[in-house]
Amino acid sequence: MEEQPLTGMTLDDLVALALADLNAATDSQALESWHTAYLGRKGRVTLTVRRVGELPPDERPAFGQRANRVKQELEAAYEKRAGFVKATEMEKALVEGALDVTLPGRPVRRGRLHPSTQTLRRIIQIWADMGFQVYRSRDVETDEYNFQLLNFPPHHPAREMQDTFYTTQPDVLLRTHTSPGQIHAMREYCPQPIRVVLPGMCYRYEQITARSEIQFHQVEGLAVGYNIRFTDLKGTLTDFAQRMFGAGRKTRFRASYFPFTEPSAEMDVACILCNGTGCRLCKYTGWLEILGCGMVHPTVLQNGGYDPTVYSGYAFGMGPERIALMRHGIEDIRYFWSNDLRFLEQF
Ligand SMILES: [Zn+2]
Repeated sequence: MEEQPLTGMTLDDLVALALADLNAATDSQALESWHTAYLGRKGRVTLTVRRVGELPPDERPAFGQRANRVKQELEAAYEKRAGFVKATEMEKALVEGALDVTLPGRPVRRGRLHPSTQTLRRIIQIWADMGFQVYRSRDVETDEYNFQLLNFPPHHPAREMQDTFYTTQPDVLLRTHTSPGQIHAMREYCPQPIRVVLPGMCYRYEQITARSEIQFHQVEGLAVGYNIRFTDLKGTLTDFAQRMFGAGRKTRFRASYFPFTEPSAEMDVACILCNGTGCRLCKYTGWLEILGCGMVHPTVLQNGGYDPTVYSGYAFGMGPERIALMRHGIEDIRYFWSNDLRFLEQF
């Protein structure tokens, strides 16, 4: 380059070369390199223009004018090319990073509560609304709390009603019902009045069938105080049934037997499917049994620390899975703990 004579032809050649190079630049980086190579402080055009002093004086003005025009021309060509390259790059980026806003969104998978927990929470919520507190009690119990203090003496025939999971530790077992919590609550609160619900898992050594499982929830309830009568029990449980199964739902009480209550009863509600006319769910009786209840047995009150001549109380117990079975028409209780998503996702 330095060896080339500074003639008009040389400038023309330089311009042709520069324009050819410029057209070959297809991205911003190449453009920048081009600008440095030709129009930069040490670029070809800049260096050529500076050498005007080496020309004979009479040629200098013409060369200077031409050189300036060439510079302007190349700057203009550069701006034009830069605009084109920038637009091309923008277009390319838009195509490559395209976001198709017409695609449907991806749904966020939401977790939800187990049907048994849903029913349990509904039950607890209703009792909480009626002023009952939740009282938690242990799953592993002693024979004393699970049976003896609840009026099941060692050889009482009622023990036959429940087959028990015993541990290797003598007299330590998995609770067969939530009722031992009654004794814990009474011993903790005595002589205060009590209104508690005791939710929890219970365990029985039973054949697993469509109707029975070895583990299931129970919600026990206990009210102790002055002047608590059977009418209080009936009124409160009827109110519960109507909040749980709908206003106006009919209920009935049938005499029954439990070692820890006297008198004892079972409460039925009018079948939630046929409303009492008879169907498969209610086995054509029109009624569904939902809980057992009764007035707390004097011996149990005494075991809890309350004088049965001064205090009285009522207790009840229900199974959330049984209630969920009825509410949702589930035919097999084994679905609850088999963790089959096809079942669980329906709730
Ligand atoms: Zn029915």
